Order: sequence, then C-alpha cells, then structure tokens
Amino acid sequence: MTFKPFGLAAITAAHLLISTTVYGQNQDYSKVQITSQDLGGGVHALFGAGGNLGVSAGPDGVFLVDDQFAPLSTKIKAAIARISDKPVKFLINTHWHFDHTGGNENFGKDGAVIVAHDNVRKLMSENQLIDFFNAKVPAAPPVALPVITFKDTTTFHLNGDTIVVKHLPPGHTTGDSIVFFQKANVLHTGDLFFNGIYPFIDVQNGGTIDGMISDAHEILKWVNADTKVIPGHGPMADRDALIAYHAMLVSVRDRVKSLITEGKTKTQVLAAKPSADLDDKWAQGFLNPDAFTAIVYDSLK
Ligand SMILES: [Zn+2]
Repeated sequence: MTFKPFGLAAITAAHLLISTTVYGQNQDYSKVQITSQDLGGGVHALFGAGGNLGVSAGPDGVFLVDDQFAPLSTKIKAAIARISDKPVKFLINTHWHFDHTGGNENFGKDGAVIVAHDNVRKLMSENQLIDFFNAKVPAAPPVALPVITFKDTTTFHLNGDTIVVKHLPPGHTTGDSIVFFQKANVLHTGDLFFNGIYPFIDVQNGGTIDGMISDAHEILKWVNADTKVIPGHGPMADRDALIAYHAMLVSVRDRVKSLITEGKTKTQVLAAKPSADLDDKWAQGFLNPDAFTAIVYDSLK
C-alpha cells in the first residue's frame, strides 16, 4: 500500500471548522513556505503547514522534532540546509498524527533514526480513523515507523545540549511527548498546547480534556519566564501564553461539566454557548466554538 500521510474522503465535519489549514488538509502544498526562527543555542523553530517543527543543529548533526506532511519534505530539508550542512540524524515524533509524521517515510529513507513513544509506533502500524476530520489514516510502511520507542522518557546528548523527551499521560492522544532543550531553554510541546486557538483533542483515540488540562499544568513546571515555547500549532509562545491556555481549558471544561451535571443534552450544551466570552480570543484560527465545545462534551460523557 502506498503511504499517504492523510486520506480524506470528504470533509463532512467541515462545518465545524473555521479553517482546516492547521491540520493541513485540502492544502496546496506548492504554495506553502517553510519559515524559520532562530531561538538561540543552536535551536530553531520551523513553520509551514501542519505541526510546528523544532531543530537542534550543531557539530553532532541535526535533531528534528516532527515533520508535517510528505509533500513538504523537500522544502523542510531545504530550510534545514540553510541552518546546517549535516544530515538529520534523529527525528522525534511528538505523537502519531499525520500532520506531524507525514514526512517520516522521506526522512526515514534518508537514514534518520525515528524515535517516539511506544504508542506512536503502535498507532502508526495500523489503519486509524479520525472521524472528526473524516480521515482514514492508513498504516505507515516500516521505513516511516519509529525504530526506537520508549515508555516514559529518553534523553539525547547532542550539540552541547541535553534534550529530554518526556511522555505525558493521555491528553491530545495516548502517545504525546514534550521535548525540552535544557541548555537552550526551549520547549516543544507537541499538540498538548495550541497557542491562542482552541485545540483539537483526539477523544476517539484516547485523548481527554482532563488529560489536556493536567498535561498543561505539568508542562508549566518545565518552563520559566525565559523559556521559548514551540507549540504544536500557532505562533511561538512563552509561559504566559501557556498559563492563559491552561485557564481557558479549565473554564470551558468546568462550564460544560456543570451543564452535563444539570442534565443537559449535547444539543442543549452547544446551545448554551458555554465558551461565548472566550471565543473572540480562541476561536479565530481553527475550531469554531461549537466544534470545541462538542469535543469537550464528548470527552466528559
Ligand atoms: Zn495532533
């Protein structure tokens, strides 16, 4: 079977979304530009379509976090080549979603050693569904799978830095990891953090709103006022942005929870517009308020 990073029959859930560009579906990849931001200490963030990337470059080679979609691999390699003349030695997947692992096959063929949490390999090895996006995600070929997996944590000693990859309990998926570049003081959160936008939670595959909240709380322990935070989606962030995100998640969760306790149906919960005062800030990029409220409801039910 040909590996397709994502397979969408049709977007029946499209009315729930303001924009699908965060997840990259229906995108004309020829128009996507990969931009780069130097975060200091040999670490860069790359932005294109799909999940944000992290790069550590130095004498030991290139360490890459996530890889967006297969059609973007050539552009991503060109962006990395502007930072380093060395090959990608290690590729970390923060989780299994196709907008973070779509380039695995291309980087794997080039010889990158792919590393991820145990569940990332497990989920990528089998056909998966994400009904919310009406996405059928076919099993990845062996070359695209992580060859080193871990249960809790693994540490890389590269380019003069100590890079800690830490799995957190089920939140966005069941296989989320954060990546902390200790010396550079940069944290890549994967999709446990969407900066300034309502996050998608893969409830169908074990994600939960409560897990997102406790993971956001845990992530706050890893950062200080100077930490540069690469979110899974959205622009570069910092501790204050994480605090605001955590507070938003708690507010929406608590409101939906009390409506459920009052015996409200899903339709009634949506009609109550529990996130109304937050929507100006958080509903601008990706999920609209009803879509996010529905996810929170489904997670709590
Ligand atoms: Zn994701």
